[in-house]
Amino acid sequence: MDGGESAHCRYHNEESARWHCPPCDLYLCQLCKPKAAQLPMDVTCPLCDEPMRDLAIGELFWITPHKHLSYPLAPNLLIFIATLTLIGMLAPAGLMLLVFVVVAFLACTWIGLHVFRTSSQGQTNAPAASALANIKTLGSFKPFLGATMILLGLVAAGWWLVPFLFAPLLTLLVAALLPASLMMVAITGSLKAAFDFEGLYQLAQRLGMAYIVLAALVLFLILTPATVLVPLTAVTPEWLHRGLLILLQTYAAILIFRFTGVALFQHQRILGHDTNLAPGQSMDLPEPDDYEPELALSTAIIQSKEGLVKEARWTLGQMLTRHPNHPELNKQFEQLLIDENEYKELTSHINRRLKKLAADRDQEKTVETWMRVKPTLGKWLPASGSDRHWLGYALAEEGQEREGLRVLLSLPKDHPKYQRLSEACTTASNIMEKSLGDNAGAEKLREVVRKKIRGRHSTPSDFI
Ligand SMILES: [Zn+2]
Ligand SMILES: [Zn+2]
Repeated sequence: MDGGESAHCRYHNEESARWHCPPCDLYLCQLCKPKAAQLPMDVTCPLCDEPMRDLAIGELFWITPHKHLSYPLAPNLLIFIATLTLIGMLAPAGLMLLVFVVVAFLACTWIGLHVFRTSSQGQTNAPAASALANIKTLGSFKPFLGATMILLGLVAAGWWLVPFLFAPLLTLLVAALLPASLMMVAITGSLKAAFDFEGLYQLAQRLGMAYIVLAALVLFLILTPATVLVPLTAVTPEWLHRGLLILLQTYAAILIFRFTGVALFQHQRILGHDTNLAPGQSMDLPEPDDYEPELALSTAIIQSKEGLVKEARWTLGQMLTRHPNHPELNKQFEQLLIDENEYKELTSHINRRLKKLAADRDQEKTVETWMRVKPTLGKWLPASGSDRHWLGYALAEEGQEREGLRVLLSLPKDHPKYQRLSEACTTASNIMEKSLGDNAGAEKLREVVRKKIRGRHSTPSDFI
């Protein structure tokens, strides 16, 4: 038992799992992968970076195809297959047989539509008798029947008219087209879409490997019934041979609709967002600004919990190049560098961050960031004079006057290249006077400025 349905998230015990990575045996819930269920791309494992299984869609049809073999044996469908076989065996040759073939084809396609539809909605049980008798589905039956008739009619005509040359090729072509055509009819509701080859190609491409397997399965199911009966031709009477053929073909037809429906269901996340494929039906795609940082944060937290610190740093660092101002991303990244004692990395990050916050004039975040990293950074101060000036000003404005003064006045006061000294001292003197009531200190600072300016006039070479 793989326990997928009942498994719980490794990090949220209360939540049932939505994603599973078999190699890592990692189960994650929707909280661990925020908004991932709405996204058309693969959900990757935070530990190994490989795509995760979506537990909501069950096991992929092409990994466990045998699990679907018993689907046509559900009572409703079995009764249908048996009835069709019996009538087929009893039907006399000639016109009556032709009528039977037409009626059987219509009935099969009708059942097929319901099998396809319920399968594409994720149902595992065969459609109920009441659903099969529901005449309201007639509207969607027409394009569905049209596509089936044209494609399977081609195969029949091929084997009838040119058995040895083109028939196998034609069958191959139909097997490649049929699943995509049926999906397109289901998505768009129009027969025209079933033969819009560009659209079909796009759809097949999106399903990738799964589509190739699906087409191969369809080819196998079209060819097998007649082929396995060939050795029996000589030993069985005609009516029995016909009955067996009908039995196997109906069983195979139901499986074709089943597999195609399941494939559509399992890839709806990928197909649902493509407006070219599904006009008017596409889901709302979340904004990258919204889901990218959230997903990265959650991934980095899991990676940190599992001791994959380098990976967590990479996850956050990569996302910061796309969303450099995301406050939570920055906070997590800084915390990671603090925890890992990455002093040099942290100082260069803070230099960049302060520059950005200064450009945005965001006092609150500037102070919040600074107060958080200050204990780790000790006496370190931003490299650029203008950033220090901004930082000191923001600190004083947000009620951290003493720290503001420290930042402003720790400047190399006599450094000849520091051109903002006068501004820094003026700002500091204002803080002293207004917020701290230290008029004497403020006056002393102003004197420094006046001296500097006079000094600059007398010896300009100091400032080169
Ligand atoms: Zn979780
Ligand atoms: Zn994994």
